[in-house]
Amino acid sequence: MGILDNRPALKAGIDRIAEVAGYLWEKGWAERNGGNITVNITEHVDDVMRSLPALGAPRPIGKVLPRLEGCWFYCKGTQKRMRDLARAPMANGSIIRILPGAASYEIVADALVAPTSELPSHLAVHDYLLAKGSPYRASLHTHPIELVALTHSRRWLEKDVATRMLWSMIPETKAFCPRGLGMVPYLLPSSVELADATIRAIDGDYDVVMWEKHGVFAVDVDIMSAFDQVDVLNKAAQIYIAARSMGFEPEGMSEAQMQEISAVFGLPKQGLF
Ligand SMILES: [Zn+2]
Repeated sequence: MGILDNRPALKAGIDRIAEVAGYLWEKGWAERNGGNITVNITEHVDDVMRSLPALGAPRPIGKVLPRLEGCWFYCKGTQKRMRDLARAPMANGSIIRILPGAASYEIVADALVAPTSELPSHLAVHDYLLAKGSPYRASLHTHPIELVALTHSRRWLEKDVATRMLWSMIPETKAFCPRGLGMVPYLLPSSVELADATIRAIDGDYDVVMWEKHGVFAVDVDIMSAFDQVDVLNKAAQIYIAARSMGFEPEGMSEAQMQEISAVFGLPKQGLF
């Protein structure tokens, strides 16, 4: 019997993760084992789950993350593919619990699938979110083609230059990704420095940040919402590219039009357009 049996709320949450993993593959954002998903599932944990034995020995996180003590996460497995996770989430990811002391974790279900090597950085972001009292429970890393392409030009790496361009492509971009797109200069994948820089960027009031010449890291209340923000931003980048492909620089919405969107939708960052 699997951990999802007779737990409809937990199963629904894992099903949404699998659905998003399928979208990432279909969009061409998840080649080979690219990308990661980590979701805080603590709210779905019951007493029977708490009493389940671990599969294997405790493993060090590599960091002490005090707010995560007693928390539970679903995480994609190391070297696993999003396209496989879409079909079989519990064979390509695992459910872990953070042990007392918040320096180690153990795998609880359904198989002994070791979590992604990015686990320490994803968990560090979740620790940060809980410390801030944030309702966000999901983190997503993926490689959206057009957004990554933007980061190969210095022009778009300047603070909020890409944000303004993307918002100006269609009104929905600002409405549904109202904090814009943060930028993190190139750092080695999986490094502590990249994790720290990502948290600093999110703390600068972004839900989605770009890792230069690599991919996006997004956080939101759940995995579908995190995916939606990335999808909306990448769509705007595609519109920009389509216009450039037609031989012209797109005009973009005016500042007044974007200010109107901010006012009508009551968006944050009212002064940024
Ligand atoms: Zn990556």
